[in-house]
Amino acid sequence: MNGSKDMTTAELTSGVRIPLIGLGTWPLAGEDASAAVAQAIEGGYRHIDTAENYANEAAVGEGIRRSGIERSQLFLTTKFNSEWHSKDGVLEAFGHALKRLRTDYLDLFLVHWPNPAQGQFVDACEGLQRLVDDGAIRAWGVSNFMPAHLRIVHGAGLRVPLNQVQIDPEHGQPGQLAYHRDHGILTAAYSPLGRNGAFLSHPAVTGPARELDKTPAQIVLRWHIQHGRVAVPKSANHQRQRENLDVFSFVLTQGQLDAIDALETGAPPRLDSDTYFH
Ligand code: NAP
Repeated sequence: MNGSKDMTTAELTSGVRIPLIGLGTWPLAGEDASAAVAQAIEGGYRHIDTAENYANEAAVGEGIRRSGIERSQLFLTTKFNSEWHSKDGVLEAFGHALKRLRTDYLDLFLVHWPNPAQGQFVDACEGLQRLVDDGAIRAWGVSNFMPAHLRIVHGAGLRVPLNQVQIDPEHGQPGQLAYHRDHGILTAAYSPLGRNGAFLSHPAVTGPARELDKTPAQIVLRWHIQHGRVAVPKSANHQRQRENLDVFSFVLTQGQLDAIDALETGAPPRLDSDTYFH
């Protein structure tokens, strides 16, 4: 049992494992979000990804309760906005998140965007570390932090456990990922399917899909996992949720991985973390 759990999770921090596949919940809202979350958990998902900015935390919390799962069996991630970038602000953001989700702790709490012009993301990270030290959250991390931002956080003496960034076969962000590798930062890929990207019909993806009797989305998610990443694909559809989670029973060869790696275009992520924030 332990062996199979280990295959589907990664070590985030000492004693904290994160399921490699999580359910993305943006842009689901209201009843759609509650139903999608409940359905996903019933189908075996144990990791749900939400954010203050998605305005769906209350609906996600409702879906979790509806599923009947014990809270301890679930890995719950949320993120907070730049408004809360101070040590006390993070504490306040945490209180609001718990109230909306109707839970009493978080597994992972992320700074959603660095907002370098505001210049307070180090305070936000320090506030998060304090929440971990106090046992209020199990782990902290960041999202959309480029190496320049991460260097500043590291310079303040903090170790960043995880960065959630936009990665797909055409947006491989090699420099970003090299920085993560060199500094022991676990990568979580958002938009891991490129929002139904054109690469899903490229032969580098459809070839292995045909050979292994899998869908293109499963091939791409498996590619993320074999590269050691967490991925949070979003789907509200029962069949697609199931296939996105069913990526642990087959293996891509090095040649198949290399062919998908070769789809990299060098394109930057959709949004520029130096200027975009909320
Ligand atoms: P995505 O997961 O790459 O793509 C979602 C799209 O792909 C939806 O249109 C979905 O349609 C479709 N899809 C899902 N599974 C599929 C499958 N097996 N086959 C074919 N199509 C499939 O992109 P995303 O929604 O942008 O990203 C996922 C999550 O990442 C978000 O929900 C959010 O939680 C997170 N995120 C984080 C940030 C950040 O700043 N940290 C930014 C963006 C997103 P159906 O729903 O119809 O299946």
